[in-house]
Amino acid sequence: MSAHPALVTHSAQFPKCTLTLAGGVRAFVGYAASNVYVIEGDDSLALIDTTESLAAAENILAELRQFTDKPVETILYTHSHRDHISGATVFAEGGTPEVLAWHGFASDIVGDLGGPSKALLDRTRKQFGFGLDYPEERVNIGCGPGDRPVRGMGAGHIPPTAVVTAPRSSRKLAGRMVELVHAPGETPDHLLVWLPEHRVLISGDNFYHSFPNLYPIRGSAYRDFDAWADSLDTMLDLAPEVLAPGHTLPVTGADAIRERLTDYRDAIRFVIEATAQGLNEGQTPDEIAATLALPTRLAEKPWLQQHYGRLDWAVRAYAAGTLGWFDGNPTNLGRLAPEDEAARFISLAGGADAVLAAAQAGDDPQWRMELADRLIATGAQTKQATAIKIAAMRELADRQINATARNYYLVCATDMEATAA
Ligand SMILES: [Zn+2]
Repeated sequence: MSAHPALVTHSAQFPKCTLTLAGGVRAFVGYAASNVYVIEGDDSLALIDTTESLAAAENILAELRQFTDKPVETILYTHSHRDHISGATVFAEGGTPEVLAWHGFASDIVGDLGGPSKALLDRTRKQFGFGLDYPEERVNIGCGPGDRPVRGMGAGHIPPTAVVTAPRSSRKLAGRMVELVHAPGETPDHLLVWLPEHRVLISGDNFYHSFPNLYPIRGSAYRDFDAWADSLDTMLDLAPEVLAPGHTLPVTGADAIRERLTDYRDAIRFVIEATAQGLNEGQTPDEIAATLALPTRLAEKPWLQQHYGRLDWAVRAYAAGTLGWFDGNPTNLGRLAPEDEAARFISLAGGADAVLAAAQAGDDPQWRMELADRLIATGAQTKQATAIKIAAMRELADRQINATARNYYLVCATDMEATAA
């Protein structure tokens, strides 16, 4: 097994490091899936985000205490995703800091959703490559390092003790004036922290060094593409000189930041416009996803490489988010059951042995998987078909520049091997 070199190179975006940004804001990158920022005041500290696990938070706190012994007065969550809110009890150090978030603070992964929660958790495991060997299998997770600690995952959340309701408001954090700006993006409850004096923008997950994750394959409700693009305009209007994202390295320099935020906004708007146009012309999401490419101007940019989000998934998500699941083709109003379709296909192809031979001989792993699925669906040649599918997933994994796709293939391959054994 050998991972795609571009995905390996992407790990340089989350080296384990502590950085001092303009205005005495400290960044902790690479300790966890997400970054932690610390605003230091005269007598106290404010923390922005808290990582996903007790272990990661403990490592950051130990490093932070090398610099200062001031107490944590406030913890602010940029949004409600679990990888930003689950180390708070560690940073509270037994005290009762104020915990701030946007008033609509809620998550598609925190708490018991009922319904398909179990599926969501299982798909989360696959997307992030839980249980895979590092670094051979799980190179990284697209938005963070592949070797983050996992003890106490999700265990240290403190619910907000105060909420922000004004779309834009000023207040003090650790005794320093900041502006809080509601900016829906990867989630609807994103809150930006803006330090006007030093032009530092702590921006949660509305930007990171990868194509935006407009659809996570773990599953999620529709992420409002238009709102996300509009929030990038809001971020551009602030004209930051330091951009402190929730994942990947901070960016310094007004010009560099403007270029990145503009490209990000334009990429999202491109997906919206191109997908809407295709749908309006009668194309199905499958057809649009199969052919759409970013314009060269955007496709070449390092911060739009599809290591975390993916363009074809974004196309499907936009179509599903705006029109729902039906692709407009009447054939799909009532499809054959998978087992029935597979049996008819296999019969037409000359029987299970012929399909198995084609699956074994094919050089396209996607086609081999699609043939193997039909054999598995009918219970014909299941053992051989399973072996073909496992090998095909491993081959596809090595071709991916997208970390979540790689991890998903490899966890599914490992699962299937365990079941087949
Ligand atoms: Zn995040």
